[in-house]
Amino acid sequence: MFAKKTIKDIDVQNKKVLVRVDFNVPLKDGVVGDDTRIRAALPTIQYLLEKNAAVILCSHLGRPKDCVDPQYSMKPVAAYLAKLIPQKVNFAEDCVGPVAKAAADALKGGEVLVLENTRFHAGETKNDPEMAKQLASLADIFVNDAFGSAHRAHASTAGVADYLPAVAGFLMEKEIQYLGQAIDDPKRPFVAILGGAKVSDKIGVIRNLLKKADDVLIGGGMANTFFKAQGYPVADSLVEDEVLDVAHELVKEGGQKLHLPVDVVIADKFEDGAAKKVVPTGPVPDGWRILDIGPDTVAQYAKVIANAKTVVWNGPMGVFEFPNFAKGTFEIARAVADSSAISVIGGGDSVAAVNQTGLEGKITHISTGGGASLEMLEGLELPGLAVLQDK
Ligand code: ADP
Ligand code: MG
Repeated sequence: MFAKKTIKDIDVQNKKVLVRVDFNVPLKDGVVGDDTRIRAALPTIQYLLEKNAAVILCSHLGRPKDCVDPQYSMKPVAAYLAKLIPQKVNFAEDCVGPVAKAAADALKGGEVLVLENTRFHAGETKNDPEMAKQLASLADIFVNDAFGSAHRAHASTAGVADYLPAVAGFLMEKEIQYLGQAIDDPKRPFVAILGGAKVSDKIGVIRNLLKKADDVLIGGGMANTFFKAQGYPVADSLVEDEVLDVAHELVKEGGQKLHLPVDVVIADKFEDGAAKKVVPTGPVPDGWRILDIGPDTVAQYAKVIANAKTVVWNGPMGVFEFPNFAKGTFEIARAVADSSAISVIGGGDSVAAVNQTGLEGKITHISTGGGASLEMLEGLELPGLAVLQDK
């Protein structure tokens, strides 16, 4: 059960509502690329508009250096939103100060105002109380629907809640419910699949999931560090020597639960057109590198996945950006899609990989938040969630 109040638990009728959304979308030449995050916020926006609330949206976009940087303007995002909804979408060229205040004051019920990038001000990432207070002064209620930014304690994700009644939006609720249930109250067997480039990014996640899951299936570049920790030279494979000890400990801690690839695909160059071969896990010949998991590993992992009731997946199984080394990732995606388990996938690259397979409709929940979903898998509290009112 979701422990926080949502927009359904308070009166939003005719109110001015400041909504922190995660509109940190890819922009190319001022045009929105993948619009998943914008669409994901629509249920909250539409619900508020139906209640005749005046909806003020704020978000960060990209990584401007604490000052105005036109390439990270929210303006194209506002224009994009205007095409998705019938209501009027206004734009304010600042998120705080007189420009924002005047635009918010003039906003009518049933209309939308998009504020300029919150990271154009240094106060955002510093969680400056003055900036939080100014944001709060625009509205009667604060709604956090930015799951993808909930692991950051910034002025617009956390600080603002000190000055307004603060509740969750529907996307936040959905993300926390799926990820939270998978981790804290999973239907078993609970299988975690972990891959991606580096172990160092995900040590906390592996450790927490070794406690909570029945099986942890390792793939991707991070497997290489485990191989090396077990004494196999990995030649030119991506490896992190600084965490060999940790990898060694995790193998010991994990025991039967921790599965490592039994075979891998090696390549003579780091490129799609490289010569490749499938070899059993063991010393990698000089001049070669591991770029994918092998077919026997896929078969073994698929069996474990087929038997699961809950699957959580973060991190590709190989360098899926190269079609010749995408097979492991795509076949694991197929296994997850085919299983009857509740399946949750998080992580920017993992989600991109699954979207390439066209199997995304067969996944129970695809998270919009990479870093935030990882912190949840690690068992950490999300600051942007913690500040919201309890039910
Ligand atoms: P996510 O964004 O889903 O959390 P990561 O960012 O941790 O995933 O890792 C994704 C990256 O890992 C991809 O760019 C992929 O190419 C890379 N990767 C996967 N397997 C390997 C490998 N064997 N060698 C080098 N890089 C790898
Ligand atoms: Mg990534």
